Amino acid sequence: MRLILLGPPGAGKGTQAKVLTEKHRIPQLSTGDMLRAAVAAGTEVGKRAKAVMDSGELVSDEIVNQIVSERIDQADCANGFILDGYPRTVPQAEALTGMLKQKGLRLDGVVNLKVDEDALVRRMESRVRETIAAGGKVRADDNPESFKKRLEEYREKTAPLADYYRGTGELRSVDGMADMKAVTAEIEKVLETA
Ligand code: AMP
Repeated sequence: MRLILLGPPGAGKGTQAKVLTEKHRIPQLSTGDMLRAAVAAGTEVGKRAKAVMDSGELVSDEIVNQIVSERIDQADCANGFILDGYPRTVPQAEALTGMLKQKGLRLDGVVNLKVDEDALVRRMESRVRETIAAGGKVRADDNPESFKKRLEEYREKTAPLADYYRGTGELRSVDGMADMKAVTAEIEKVLETA
């Protein structure tokens, strides 16, 4: 299964991707996680991306397209993958269409998690509280200022992807406000009918 999860920050893409990857035994490809790993490892890409990520802006298309193209070629992606947080701009979506075609692969669907924007800040705040309670490290961009910027970036650059994938006939919308299990069930349902 090859799937894209679309939706604003805090919509539950990461949570749903984790459940689906366990069920279908395919990897979750989160460009955010890959970039955070590059930052932690102090690679060239990590050094270029850190300040941009901390502020809530988007890293360049060129960097993420390359990361994803290389990741898809790895053996664990042979049976599929779930893209979480990529593509995030129309040029990234176009690049992905091109790279999948070149690799002889096709998508099974693009799931758009629809959420009420007022809930997103509350979800970010509760994620911060839960991380602290669990003794974990809070993300540098999980603060009100960066989160506001991430939402602006989403509205301006990522929301237009719904139209892009509506145009290709691959877009499926799911109510992301329902409880976690119901959202998973709905995603599975729309994929079956795709
Ligand atoms: P995320 O974990 O998906 O919320 O991503 C965290 C941050 O990583 C974003 O705010 C961006 O700075 C960067 N990032 C992740 N994925 C992408 C992408 N596809 N394009 C550009 N920047 C990205």
